[in-house]
Amino acid sequence: MFRAPRHRPGAAADAAAPRWPVRALAVVAAVAVATAVLAPPAAGVAAGAVTAALAAVVLRARVRQLTGTDAQVWRWAGRSAAVVAVGLVAELVARMLPGGLDGVGLTAGAVVASAVAYQGLVRWNRLRTAVSDPGDWLNAIGSTLCALALGLWVVQQLPNSGAAAVPVVALVGHLVRLSVMTVMLGTALTVSAIADLRRDARALALVGVIAGLSLVEVGGLLRALRLGADAPGAGPGVVLAWTAFAVGLAVAALLPRARSARRYASSRATTTGSIIVIVAGVVLLLLDVFTAGADRAVALLAALGVFAASGRVFHLVGELAQLATSRIEARTDPLTGVANRRALIEAVEEASGGEGGAALLIVDLDKFKDVNDRFGHAVGDAVLIAVAARLDEAVTGRGLLARLGGDEFAVVLPGADAAAAVRVAQRLAATVAEPVDVAARTIHVATSIGVACTALDGRAEGELLRRADAAMYLAKRAGGGIRVFDHDADTRARAERELLEDLRAMLTTTGGEHGRLVLHYQPQVDVATGAPVGVEALVRWDHPTHGVLPPVAFLELAEAHGVMQLVTWQVLSQATAQAVRWRDEGLDLRVAVNLSTSCLEEPRLLGVIEQALVSAGLPSDRLVVEITETSLMRDPQLAIRVTQRIAAQGIGISIDDYGTGYSSLAYLNDLPAGELKIDRSFTARLTADPRTRAIVAGTVQLGHHLGLSVVAEGVEDAETLEVLRRLGCDRSQGYFHSRPMPAAELTETLRGLAAASARVTA
Ligand code: C2E
Ligand code: CA
Ligand code: CA
Repeated sequence: MFRAPRHRPGAAADAAAPRWPVRALAVVAAVAVATAVLAPPAAGVAAGAVTAALAAVVLRARVRQLTGTDAQVWRWAGRSAAVVAVGLVAELVARMLPGGLDGVGLTAGAVVASAVAYQGLVRWNRLRTAVSDPGDWLNAIGSTLCALALGLWVVQQLPNSGAAAVPVVALVGHLVRLSVMTVMLGTALTVSAIADLRRDARALALVGVIAGLSLVEVGGLLRALRLGADAPGAGPGVVLAWTAFAVGLAVAALLPRARSARRYASSRATTTGSIIVIVAGVVLLLLDVFTAGADRAVALLAALGVFAASGRVFHLVGELAQLATSRIEARTDPLTGVANRRALIEAVEEASGGEGGAALLIVDLDKFKDVNDRFGHAVGDAVLIAVAARLDEAVTGRGLLARLGGDEFAVVLPGADAAAAVRVAQRLAATVAEPVDVAARTIHVATSIGVACTALDGRAEGELLRRADAAMYLAKRAGGGIRVFDHDADTRARAERELLEDLRAMLTTTGGEHGRLVLHYQPQVDVATGAPVGVEALVRWDHPTHGVLPPVAFLELAEAHGVMQLVTWQVLSQATAQAVRWRDEGLDLRVAVNLSTSCLEEPRLLGVIEQALVSAGLPSDRLVVEITETSLMRDPQLAIRVTQRIAAQGIGISIDDYGTGYSSLAYLNDLPAGELKIDRSFTARLTADPRTRAIVAGTVQLGHHLGLSVVAEGVEDAETLEVLRRLGCDRSQGYFHSRPMPAAELTETLRGLAAASARVTA
């Protein structure tokens, strides 16, 4: 049956340690202690070996339960305990051999066991911190040798010490074990600190055991020195201590693991350790060399220790050099070799915080996509490399050039004001403008450059990049060149962007939360009778926050961003429907709808117009489309084709704003138009300016000769209307008759106009 594991607070979800190993270890350890104290030394060693072996078995069992990184760490601990057991067996054998080899087996085991445990500690550190120390082993060897040198030197310095009398094997054994223990203690402490294991019971236990063992070894050494010639290689206390080390490893492995995150540390702490070792080694070396009569063993050990620790430091310096290289690579654009965006951002932060602020230029190549499309990416890349080299040359000494990606570069100029930045921008534009010879081709590249600087209005470092970018965007929109960031232009551009987003949303969603398009209508009256004969539909955007927006506020935007068709489709459907409603109310009017330039290029135009007529139920001769003279003249052939198809459906064509577009008479003759609308700039000057009157008179005659009826727009007073009547103008539209207004309001006006004209004609 599955049983959910119980979680101790603060402990990670490893399988709980089983109880039996603890009990078995306790019993065996107690026996070992009793044996060491009561039985002959050899029996103590044997008991220690059995205990250590059991600890190794317990560790092995524990490792099977552990997962991930922990298993790796404690596997080495298990090996270490096993080595201690083997060392104690070797010790037993050594003691049976002749020649006073007491302590040799234990020492050998201790050295190997420490090395293995060290490996575990290093793993622990690596797995917890993701830092791998390049010189782990050199570190261990260097510090052990120096510790040995130190121990030997201290022993030699002790007054009246029996050092000389202690058997060499025993003395070396004591010193070696003490040294490896000291290094292990240092390592355990360092790892606990770096890997943030200070609250981990296992690390604490380990440090405690190793510290205890070190103390016992110190005691053993002092005792040996006191006993002199009778000193044992390893007394019962030392044997017991190493047994305790193995048991301690097992106990630590059974303790709960603290729940703490992985850390990211540097190898600074271990490097500091190496430096300490080197300094200590050099001091010992000098002390020993200048001590008369010394046997130079200390000097030799210290020199070897310094050598190993220095090797580790050199190793690290090499790694740092490599790291520096990769840091440089991380800040370089691979294609052009100049700095990349990351380096730029760092440079901007640094420069804009400094004295005098900084300027930033964004340099964007114009129509670079064309170069790629026409000549291929290899040529495009070659051009970018050439351009980068030129920009770099022009910038060197003044600031930093970076490639932001694609065909976009940036330049930071520390301490530059707007004027200085513009001068640099001019130089950059000029150098890029010179032709580039690539793959037997000569390619011309132009730029749009945006300039922003912190000096313009105080500190705005975070904004600098956005501002330079906004200025570049405006430069690009103006067809290239240099543009300095300007608050008002930016505000306008932002407002425009917002309005465009609203417009798109309004045209593509039905919720009405972005307002809706509404039509105002303005009547056209017959000049002779005063009767209303038609209306012009004029669009407005009833915006939720800006109120009712006139066409100038949004039509240009719609045209520039490809949503004009959507506007026109709505206008067509509303206007045709309204015309039908008026007809049903007894007002028979032609309704005029304005078409923009882009509508003429829209292949679906005719289909949409027809559909509007059909779904409203309006006969096609009741609809007029107004197209400005300027639109018609942009692509006269297209205009003729499209208008012919519209006219073929019986729909009226009106040439709007006539007189402003310089149309040629030849085209005018080919257009299937039925109406000319004299622009209101002429109407406005009609009464005051005889020359304008002459132009209008000529236009009316020309229109009539071509079979067109002539409409005057912008009629604001009776006087103007009177002049138009005398000149033979057919229809009149303007504030004098009515302002454009919603259909519901206009209906009354239309009835009034109709009634008045009926009285006149009657
Ligand atoms: P337009 O086609 O020349 O329309 C006539 C404009 O003159 C209207 O401005 C109208 O309100 C104004 N107006 C009328 N009578 C007088 C007058 O006596 N004096 C003066 N000073 N002005 C007068 P509105 O409604 O602001 O429209 C401006 C322009 O927007 C229109 O000029 C037209 O080109 C465009 N437009 C309006 N609606 C649409 C539409 O649905 N589609 C397209 N493509 N353009 C439209
Ligand atoms: Ca119009
Ligand atoms: Ca007009």
